[in-house]
Amino acid sequence: MQLLDGKAISSQIKSEIKAEVEQWMAAGGKKPHLAAILVGQDGASETYVASKIRSCEEIGFTSTLLRFDANTTEATLLEAVESLNNDPDVDGFIVQLPLPAHISENKVMEAVNPAKDVDGFHPVNVGRMCKGLPAYISATPFGILEMLIRAGIETSGKHCVVIGRSQIVGLPMSILMQRNAYPGNCTVTITHSKTQNLKEICQSADILIVALGRPEFVTAEYVKEGAVVVDVGITRVADATKKSGFSIRGDVNFNDVAPKSSYITPVPGGVGLMTICGLLTNTLKAAKREIYS
Ligand code: NAP
Repeated sequence: MQLLDGKAISSQIKSEIKAEVEQWMAAGGKKPHLAAILVGQDGASETYVASKIRSCEEIGFTSTLLRFDANTTEATLLEAVESLNNDPDVDGFIVQLPLPAHISENKVMEAVNPAKDVDGFHPVNVGRMCKGLPAYISATPFGILEMLIRAGIETSGKHCVVIGRSQIVGLPMSILMQRNAYPGNCTVTITHSKTQNLKEICQSADILIVALGRPEFVTAEYVKEGAVVVDVGITRVADATKKSGFSIRGDVNFNDVAPKSSYITPVPGGVGLMTICGLLTNTLKAAKREIYS
C-alpha cells in the first residue's frame, strides 16, 4: 500500500504556484487576488475559509474576506457578489457553502461572473468542463486528478466507481474520469443513496472515489485487492480526548481498507489539502486570464 499524501503533494504544488506567481509578477503581471464571502459562523466553514486565506498569504496572493451575518438577506448577498464581479482588482472569488436556508445557493452561484468563478460551480464552467472546453474545474475534483497524476496512477480502461453524485464532488468527478484524457478514459459507475448492490459494485472498482459524508462507511469488504481508494469525506465526530472536542473522520475506514489497497488517501492529510491547491491554481489562471481572456 502507498499513501497518497495530500500534505506532501499540496506543499509541492504550493511551492510551484509561489514560483509561478513570482515569475508572473517579475514580468509585470498583477498580484493575484482571491476574495471569499462567508455567511454566518459555521465552525467548519470558518476553518475552511481561514485555511484558504492562510494559503493565499503563503504563496503571495492578495486575499479579502467579506463576512456577513447568518440573517443577511439574499438581496444583500447578491449585491456583494455583483460588487466583486465589478471589482477590477479581484481576479476570482468564492462563496463558502453551505449558505443559510433562506438564501438560494443556485441563485448566488449563478450570479457569479463565470470568469471569476474559481470554485468552478457556475453552470457555464460546469457545461464547459462537460464539453472539454477550457473551464475552471471545481477544486476538489481538480485536487483528486492532481493526486492521481503525481502518483503516476494509470486510469485508462479502469473501472472507476464514484460514491456520491453531489454537484461539487461526485458528479464532476465522474465526468472527469470518463473523458478522453489523462487522468480519464475510465469506465465510470456513479452511485448514490438509491443504488442497489453498492457493495458488489464497489468490489469491481479499480479506482474507488468515496464522497458520501458518512464516517468510515467503506470497509475492506467493499474494496477489491489492489484498488486505488480516494476518500473525500470530512466529518467532525465528537471526541472528548481532543481539545477542540471533535476529530475528523473520512468516509473510508482507513485501517481496515489500507492493507487491501494499492494507493489510499488518509483523512485528514489527503484530499482536503488538495482542494485548496485546486482553488489556488484556478485563481492564478484567473489572474493570468488563461481560461477567459
Ligand atoms: P452531499 O452533497 O451530501 O452528497 C452526498 C452524496 O452521497 C449524495 O449523492 C448521496 O446520494 C450519496 N449517499 C448518501 N448516503 C449514501 C449511501 N448510503 N450509499 C450511497 N450513496 C450515498 O455531500 P458532498 O458535498 O459531496 O460531500 C461528501 C463528503 O465529502 C462530506 O463528508 C463532505 O464534508 C466531504 N467534502 C470534502 C471536501 C474536501 O475538500 N475533502 C470537499 C467537499 C466535500 P443522494 O444523491 O441519493 O442523496
